[in-house]
Amino acid sequence: MTSISNRFRSPANLTPLLLCLLASLPFRAEAQAPPGKPDPASPPPPVTYHRLVPGRSTVAEVREALGQPLEEHRWYSYKLLYPAAGREGHFDAVHLRSSNGKDGELGCVEAASIPQGLKTLTEVKSALGEPEFFLEFHRQSLADYSEKGVRFTFDFQGNTIGAAYFPHGRRRVHSGERRFLSLRALPQGPQPPPENAPPPDLSAGVSRIDITPQKAEWLGPVAQGKPFRIHDPMQARCAVLARGALKVAIVGADLFGLSKSEVDPIEKRLQEKGLSHLLLCMSHNHAAPDTIGIYGHYPREYVEYLQERIYQGVLEADRALKPVARLSAGSQELPLDGSRVEGLFRNARNPGIVDPQLAVLQASGADGKPIVTFVHFACHAEGLSTGVLEPSADFPGYLCDALDRDPGGQTVFLNGALGGMVSGDSKARTHDEARVTGERLAAIAREVLRTATSPRSARFEIGRYRLEVPVTNPKFVLFQKLANRRPLVQGRIATDMFHLRLGDAELVTIPGELLPEVSFEILARMQGFPRMLVGLTNDELGYMLPGYDFNEGQYEESMSVGPAIGPMVRDQAIRMVESQRDGAGGGAR
Ligand SMILES: [Zn+2]
Repeated sequence: MTSISNRFRSPANLTPLLLCLLASLPFRAEAQAPPGKPDPASPPPPVTYHRLVPGRSTVAEVREALGQPLEEHRWYSYKLLYPAAGREGHFDAVHLRSSNGKDGELGCVEAASIPQGLKTLTEVKSALGEPEFFLEFHRQSLADYSEKGVRFTFDFQGNTIGAAYFPHGRRRVHSGERRFLSLRALPQGPQPPPENAPPPDLSAGVSRIDITPQKAEWLGPVAQGKPFRIHDPMQARCAVLARGALKVAIVGADLFGLSKSEVDPIEKRLQEKGLSHLLLCMSHNHAAPDTIGIYGHYPREYVEYLQERIYQGVLEADRALKPVARLSAGSQELPLDGSRVEGLFRNARNPGIVDPQLAVLQASGADGKPIVTFVHFACHAEGLSTGVLEPSADFPGYLCDALDRDPGGQTVFLNGALGGMVSGDSKARTHDEARVTGERLAAIAREVLRTATSPRSARFEIGRYRLEVPVTNPKFVLFQKLANRRPLVQGRIATDMFHLRLGDAELVTIPGELLPEVSFEILARMQGFPRMLVGLTNDELGYMLPGYDFNEGQYEESMSVGPAIGPMVRDQAIRMVESQRDGAGGGAR
């Protein structure tokens, strides 16, 4: 059978076809405010923000009802900020579906203002009935009334601290799906120190390798004819953790994404040098070249450069191994006022649904100084309007640099379940705002480190699990055929997931962008502290959605290999977690 890939293998023919493919992908700005319009015949939603109806009220009506905003900026689409009523220091964010802030309609509102008569969970339930879905975090909670176009966040006492308004009329969680999920019993925040922490009996080494693009052509056609200007360096921050024959490299890289077909050769070469595993954790940096080629141009020379640099970086970290005298770990549940982690991250697809955990894991040497500090939370690194035209590491770069200065050692950022569509909540998409975000996150990480405790266990184990997922999205089928770097086998694509236990910490890797609502189902089954789902590790297969919320035609769905991957990744992660529970075996696999 003559495949398309055989006929169009030469790069000269490939690019125009990939560009056609690109033209059929939806515009990214669509994903910054939830889509959909309520049925014109349907009554207004039971709760509104100043009587405005998302998906129906025009921008002119929004401006007339709300008056002059405190700030307004383009953030892919357009956002207006208003001071929250009666809540000093908090803001209501109004997201417009508009390219100029004048035309278009209201997309959604994430408000720290508390709606009249809905000051507590009890009041909300008595006014609106039982929620479609209820989620308990360790301290806070979320009540989801998607069909009514509203979600609420509550503090530990059940006081309303945020309300998100979005187009009503569509259930997100169907009857028959899980209606209640609790993460409340899982350890979170400062933990009591153990009586006797076992010695880690571990070595760690680090290195930092510059992976900034060296040539204008590596940035892709979008940068052609424009000045080649690097804003700040991109890095691969390499750490090797070793005990006996188990040598795991964990690399945090300022990359948009790399496919398994490009990561595997790096790991294979490292295995020849005695490393056992490579976890390449990509920050999903949107100010980096598209190293997958999904947007029409595959920068082969840059990818080869990256492969060599990361290989060398890991070897350098391996040469720098020294004994770890202490492991410490901690986490913090960030406040969900205003149905988002204000100023840091939000969910643009399903406002209010964000994982507020920031987790830190640190290994220190005999001199008491940190060797490596892993920092984990979930957010798209897409806070720069200049994108790849001005390559930068975005907020993860500022975060890591700030922690490298204080407390020292080397920081490795691990992004989380950032899919659909956990994105920045900065005021504007500028380098200054990226710096503010990164440094604020660094300050939170330092706070967590102050109360971080040593683990009760000296576990160091890793499991590798293969997964084969069906690729049913016709665009992705065509992309894989045209790119011809990674064969589909009977319509399936193979990928890897890892499960790592280090001390009490538990880490599951995800080969792409998992939606937070799927991550909660996995987190609820994890027993470690802290628990981390690390996205875009060794692969980038796009969005992984819950089966019940896969809506053909929406942005994230168009950037997903298909509806099967979300549930398959969830089930695999749960199997991995349960097979490595305390006493259920272990060791390297
Ligand atoms: Zn993404």
